[in-house]
Amino acid sequence: MIIVMKNSAGQAALDAVEARVHAEGLETRVLPGEHKTVIAVIGTRPPELLQQLERMPHVEATIPISEPFKLAARTDTRERSVIQVGGVEIGNGSVTVMAGPCTVESPDQMAATAQHVASAGAQLLRGGAYKPRSSPYSFQGMGIPGLQLLAEAREATGLPVITEVLDPRQVEFVVDYADVLQIGTRNAQNYPLLCEVGACRKPVLLKRGMGNTIDEWLMCAEYILAAGNPDVMLCERGIRTFETSSRFTLDLNAIPLLRRRTHLPIVVDPSQGTGHWYMVHDMALASVAAGADGIIVEVHPEPETALIDGQQSLSFRHFSELMARLQPMAAALGRPLGAPVGV
Ligand code: PEP
Ligand code: MN
Repeated sequence: MIIVMKNSAGQAALDAVEARVHAEGLETRVLPGEHKTVIAVIGTRPPELLQQLERMPHVEATIPISEPFKLAARTDTRERSVIQVGGVEIGNGSVTVMAGPCTVESPDQMAATAQHVASAGAQLLRGGAYKPRSSPYSFQGMGIPGLQLLAEAREATGLPVITEVLDPRQVEFVVDYADVLQIGTRNAQNYPLLCEVGACRKPVLLKRGMGNTIDEWLMCAEYILAAGNPDVMLCERGIRTFETSSRFTLDLNAIPLLRRRTHLPIVVDPSQGTGHWYMVHDMALASVAAGADGIIVEVHPEPETALIDGQQSLSFRHFSELMARLQPMAAALGRPLGAPVGV
C-alpha cells in the first residue's frame, strides 16, 4: 500500500501515520516529493487499515498495490488451477461442456436428458433439485427425490453431476449426491453459504451475482478458498443492465479480465445469460473463443413444457447441433472438447 500525504502534512503528521502503521507490525519507507510526500507500506496489512488511515488528518489517499483476494489472485508464479471432477479435468486447456435441464422434473425427463447429453459429448450433467424462484408460489424443485434422480442418471451415464445448494443447511446432505456444488447468482454473496461450501471437499461452481463487479465476485470466491476449499470455478451468467431485450447481459469481457486476474477456471452460462434459446449457440461459441474453460447449458426433452426456463433451454436436436458447431471451433483454437466420459 502507498499512503499519499496532503501538501499540508508536516513532520508531526508523518510521524503519526508511521506510528499507526508500525503499530500493525508493518514497515514504512518515506518518499519525499516536490509537492507531496508518500509513504510506502511493506508487509501484509489488515484490510481495514486502508480506510482507517484515510480518516487521519493530512492523509490524502491510500492506494492498495496487491489484490485483496490473496488466494484467488493470479501471480506470475502460480499455475492456473485445474479442477478434477470424477475423471474430468476443468481448466486444463480443453473445453468442458456441462449440460442438462434447468431443474429435475421427473425420472423420464432426467434419464432421457442425461442419455442424450452424454451421447452428444457433454462431460458433466447439470440439474437443479433446489431452485431459487422469484415467487414463493412457483415450483421450488423436487428436493431430495430430485437429488436421487441425479445420482441415478450419473450411475446410468457415468457423467458427474452439478447441482445448486441454496441454504447452508443443505450442504451437508447435497454433498452425498453431487460431484460439484453450484452457488447461484442470488446467493453469490451469501457469506455463510460460501463458508459452508468452503468447508466441504467438493468442487464449487460460483456464479457471478447479477449485480456484482468482478472485484466483488473474486472476493466471494476468496471466501470459499479461505475456508479451505481450493476447487472453485467461476461462472459468468449475465449481469443486470438497462437492456431488456435479453434476460441478462452476458458479460464476455469478464473472461479475458478474469484470465488476467485469477488462476481459477472460468465457465460461462449462455442459457441464464441470454434467456433465449436461439442466442445460446452463438454466445456459447463466443465464450469459448474468448477463452472460457467451459460452458454450462440448459437442455430439455420438450422445452415448451419445461417447468422452469424452457424459453432458454435447448432441445436435444439443438444441443447436438451446438456440439457439432463447437467441435471444429475448439479444435481450430487448439483447445479440443474434453473427451466424452458418458455412456
Ligand atoms: C440455473 O442454473 O438454473 C440458475 C438458476 O442459475 P443462476 O443462479 O445463474 O440464475
Ligand atoms: Mn435455469
